[in-house]
Amino acid sequence: MKVLNKSKLDNVFEKLSKDTDLYLPMQKGRQTGYFSYKTLNDDTDDIVLDILNVYLPPKNIVLPQTERMYSFKTEGTEVNINEVYEVREPKVIFGIRSCDVKSIEYLDEVFFTKGYTDNYYKARREETVIIANACYFPGKSCFCESMGVDPLKPDTADVIIHDTGQDGYVWEAKTEKGEEVTKSISEFLEDKNVELPKPTPLKRSVNYDGVAEKLKDMFDHPMWEKLSDPCQTCGICTYICPTCYCFDIQVKSWGEEGYRFRCWDSCMYGEYSMMAGGHNPREAAKERFRNRFLHKLQFYKERYGSSLCTGCGRCVVACPTGVSIIKIIDEVKEANAGE
Ligand code: SF4
Ligand code: SF4
Repeated sequence: MKVLNKSKLDNVFEKLSKDTDLYLPMQKGRQTGYFSYKTLNDDTDDIVLDILNVYLPPKNIVLPQTERMYSFKTEGTEVNINEVYEVREPKVIFGIRSCDVKSIEYLDEVFFTKGYTDNYYKARREETVIIANACYFPGKSCFCESMGVDPLKPDTADVIIHDTGQDGYVWEAKTEKGEEVTKSISEFLEDKNVELPKPTPLKRSVNYDGVAEKLKDMFDHPMWEKLSDPCQTCGICTYICPTCYCFDIQVKSWGEEGYRFRCWDSCMYGEYSMMAGGHNPREAAKERFRNRFLHKLQFYKERYGSSLCTGCGRCVVACPTGVSIIKIIDEVKEANAGE
């Protein structure tokens, strides 16, 4: 097997960052997330490959929080497009966990399939190589297995690395892209046999079986009143969720010129579903709350065959009022659908 000694990690990062924009899990002040290696400040930042789930998910790498789509200039009644901003820059995400790999798979489904292709997303995604770090010691808030994610075998990763402790990382190329990246750093890999760690079972689990089907008859169920009561519609859960992909499109213009851009939005906000005439089909916080969880647990499954939750646990930890998707799934399981 191929093994990367930990003393060679810096060499690998230097090498990969020469030709690509390399993203690594980092601690920057009190914040953790996947940040570009270009932004690493040796005096203040730490690369944290051991951390399980960084606070900020990797979705901004393929779906930036704000991105320009195209610029235009008007001449009379004519509108001419000047430039379309499809960014094709090679990227490597190093050290991503299985749940976050799955979240990118879900974004791929939304932006690539069912007869629709989003070229902005596609340009970024096609140039992205995923090097996943297998999870042998899942965290307290992780429940990925319950949501169909294998913490050791991220399906669509290009390379999987396995942390064996002192012996370094076992390096396993899984795709053509993975073989290429492996070739580019082969001088730092050695051939030897080492033992993989024994995985620790997950501490949290939830039973999602049958939940999507049951929810079909629970749109008007009184449980939504109780469950949504603590929610302050702050939207944190949607911003830090690796699978939430809703965005708004706006225009910035000056004189005859301008550009169109898109930015993340949150279904928890009242303006999100506001219509041009002023009508809002989800005016009450309860309606927005219900929509978020029906989208995650029912609607996405009906359209794509799985839930839109990877069990990463971020929202469970981050919600300031203790709303938990785990408790919601449990509540649905226990509820009398006919109520
Ligand atoms: S983080 Fe909690 S309080 Fe904020 S919108 Fe989400 S569920 Fe509501
Ligand atoms: S809903 Fe919560 S647990 Fe599920 S993927 Fe989003 S942040 Fe993670």
